Amino acid sequence: MIGEVIMPKKVAFYTLGCKVNQYESDAMAELFKNRGYELVGFDDVADVYVINTCTVTNEGARKSRQIIRKAARRNPEATIAVVGCYAQLEAEEVSRIPGVDVVVGTKDRHKIVDLVEQAGKNNEKIIEVEDIMQTRNFEEIAFRGHRQRTRAFLKIQEGCNMFCSYCIIPYVRGPVRSRTLESIIREAENLAGDGFKEIVLTGIHLGLYGADFKGGPTLYDVIERLSRIEGIKRIRLSSIEAMELSDDLIKKLASLDNFCHHFHIPLQSGSDRILKLMNRRYTTAEFEERLRFIRDIMPDVGITTDVIVGFPGETDEDFEITRKFIERAAFSRLHVFKFSPRKGTPAAEMPDQIPGPVKESRSRELIRLSRRLERDFRDGLTGKVLDVLFEERDNRGLYHGLTDNYIRVAVWSDQDLHNRLLPVRLIENRDEYIFGEIKKF
Ligand code: SF4
Repeated sequence: MIGEVIMPKKVAFYTLGCKVNQYESDAMAELFKNRGYELVGFDDVADVYVINTCTVTNEGARKSRQIIRKAARRNPEATIAVVGCYAQLEAEEVSRIPGVDVVVGTKDRHKIVDLVEQAGKNNEKIIEVEDIMQTRNFEEIAFRGHRQRTRAFLKIQEGCNMFCSYCIIPYVRGPVRSRTLESIIREAENLAGDGFKEIVLTGIHLGLYGADFKGGPTLYDVIERLSRIEGIKRIRLSSIEAMELSDDLIKKLASLDNFCHHFHIPLQSGSDRILKLMNRRYTTAEFEERLRFIRDIMPDVGITTDVIVGFPGETDEDFEITRKFIERAAFSRLHVFKFSPRKGTPAAEMPDQIPGPVKESRSRELIRLSRRLERDFRDGLTGKVLDVLFEERDNRGLYHGLTDNYIRVAVWSDQDLHNRLLPVRLIENRDEYIFGEIKKF
């Protein structure tokens, strides 16, 4: 008798929002794969759809709802699980969207497979969302990294206590929780064993790592310990606040061979008046002083930043002050965001909201400035030899990779350079990357 062929169940993911969400989706996808599920694209007909939502802007919430409805249309028989920030904030609203079977917030995602199977078997709706403000533990979701990439993201921290006036994150991600050093090392060793050479430490508010431990490991302790793992050639921080980079931390980081000389330090505004309205806890003078100190210790450092334009009350003069500050700070790249009022945050209720076209033109101006600053930064590197970790070949045949100070470099090569760290002479500054030549010995 020929046995019945059992096809694996199919699961599809859609992820909105930030890198942390992407990390968590990948971790959940791995949990499904470990239970025998096949991972398929979101446009395929799947048995399970997981939508990892975002609520940082009102737009994120709208898009989340749209994607949920799309999944329900694609396969009305599928089990639909909605997780993440929007699900945390508006669990009831999400559960009422037709087709939704499971709602999980920003906690308990490690139970996702069980919850989905329980909902499917019993034909019931499950809402697993608790008061995140009462959560004190870091949630462990075992994960072995993105396969195709040379860089692996490693989440070590959750939550934020800062309550910037425009940000919903502290309400949906809860207070600061740090991952234990042992668990971080375990994941990093697995990643190194899988061949990853670069680890990007990530979290919601990375610089507060360890703030919830009494005398426990600090962010530096984590980095120092990871720097000793065989095979890890680079450690990068995804983002850190200026005032969390103390003199001592900068000096200690600079002393590690494999710490990347690249910091992403959110500025948000170059006007002290606006920073105060944003409830950011530094002045532009303090921010500038941090940049100066970092550059004294790491002259080749690349410093990227985030800026919000059109915050309520931002006058032309505030914007001009911001523009000049950014120019002086010589960031190597800007991520420019147009302020978007998020319901539930103080900034959404502030007077003097800025009209869309003004935000648009300020945003365009800063994007132009970012291109110029990027070009200037690349100009300063041209002629040097820097190590490049190669990732992939483009459709013209150029192999692309990144330097440790986060500059894209491309070379011609007929060899497979994927995941190789090689010294490259930087020859010509082109749009978006520097063209180089692998150094011969
Ligand atoms: S520091 Fe501010 S912007 Fe960043 S997550 Fe916390 S509240 Fe949001």
